[in-house]
Amino acid sequence: MEHLLPQSLGGMDEVDNLALACSRCNSRRYNFMTGIDPDTEIEVTLFNPRQQNWSEHYVWSIDRLQIVGKTAVGRATCQRLDLNDDRHNDRFIIRARALWLRGGWHPPDGDLCL
Ligand SMILES: [Zn+2]
Repeated sequence: MEHLLPQSLGGMDEVDNLALACSRCNSRRYNFMTGIDPDTEIEVTLFNPRQQNWSEHYVWSIDRLQIVGKTAVGRATCQRLDLNDDRHNDRFIIRARALWLRGGWHPPDGDLCL
């Protein structure tokens, strides 16, 4: 499987090498290609939204506010990008998901939940 090589590491800026991301995820991903799965402590390549299926790697927590990695790739990416703001004090994303949930826009259609 090919993985998106960041431009800063010699990757191309062709459409096929790009993935739409919010600035928060983009800055946390930086130019990392891998992350450490917290369960197995094995280094794996990060989730590639262009080539991998979200629902194979993630589910939403029971309260729908936390992303839970099902696989090593899912857990490592969750950790690397801090998708649940575990390492950021503002908890902005958790508050945003709670509002989206109340508005009926969350979780996205087709996403799996615990
Ligand atoms: Zn994001």
